[in-house]
Amino acid sequence: MTILLVKSGGEAALPDWQRHFAESAPDIEVHWWDDPAIQPEQVEYVLVWEPDHGRLAQMPNLRMVLSTAAGVDHITRDPAWPAHLPLVRMGGEETAQRMGEYVSLACLGLLRDVRRIMASQVAEKWDYFENPRCALDVRVGIMGMGNLGARSAQMVAGLGFQVAGWSRSRKELPGIESFAGPEEFEAFLSRSDILVCLLPDTPDTRGAIRAETIALLPPGAGVVNAARGTHVVFDDLVAALQIGHLSGAVLDVFTQEPLPPGHPAWSHPHILVTSHLASLATRSARVRYVADAIRRHEAGEALPNLYDPIRGY
Ligand code: NAP
Repeated sequence: MTILLVKSGGEAALPDWQRHFAESAPDIEVHWWDDPAIQPEQVEYVLVWEPDHGRLAQMPNLRMVLSTAAGVDHITRDPAWPAHLPLVRMGGEETAQRMGEYVSLACLGLLRDVRRIMASQVAEKWDYFENPRCALDVRVGIMGMGNLGARSAQMVAGLGFQVAGWSRSRKELPGIESFAGPEEFEAFLSRSDILVCLLPDTPDTRGAIRAETIALLPPGAGVVNAARGTHVVFDDLVAALQIGHLSGAVLDVFTQEPLPPGHPAWSHPHILVTSHLASLATRSARVRYVADAIRRHEAGEALPNLYDPIRGY
């Protein structure tokens, strides 16, 4: 039997993980991360969220690390993570679909001022207001056109928004304008009425949404961050909302999570806070994805969504 340790969803989630693995890959024996019955040398695969620093390095027969999330910063921030091993990021159809749904919700929420609608309901106030623009008039710019950005771009374009993407390499997606590299960043920003961040967390992308970049957006622009909290300089965002250069923001991720009580984002009239819930596939979908990756690895086939330590994502 192949032994897989899981650290995701708390120990209480283990029976659920085991049930799904029993259905998709009965030859994989699933144990909790801290199971005292399992010796480090028995472990061949791990499926993890925020593994304790140094633990992966103590597993001499580990063959592959699988992340329960699309981002892997929670693994690579361990200075001793075994960078010589394949690190597979969570992916698959459901993850992309769910992020596309979130980005659609966020863009429509900014377009229709959902924050104001929610506040009116809480105040039991009949607040009729007209909307000067519809989606056809609004240009959405998606930073990061990978698994999640590309699907989100297509879904948002389907709602009628004018969509462009920005990535390192140029993309060819029907109906989506493509900007590539630092030299086209300014042109991309200046046409983005709603800026959506779906970049990975790397030294190059940290602080991508800061005073200088926000200043290049058209007046009244909105911002959506569903990538990582490190992408936004929060004080710069608030300052731009304060002077009205930005009209609103939808934030799913923060540098400190859970976002602590009293954080100014909670009560800001133009910020919609969601609790890092933009896109997490169901456990059964994630297990099918992981079981397939392990099967491919054992068969010597190409792996999906491999992290590249040189690129940093
Ligand atoms: P991905 O497939 O690795 O795509 C990354 C994209 O960013 C690629 O298009 C890449 O360009 C581009 N990029 C990277 N560095 C760049 C740079 N310096 N300049 C311009 N473009 C750059 O990532 P993903 O799986 O779509 O994930 C995107 C983000 O979503 C990650 O931060 C992840 O952690 C986050 N996430 C959040 C949630 C949530 O619930 N909030 C859920 C899942 C994922 P190329 O295409 O040219 O390589």
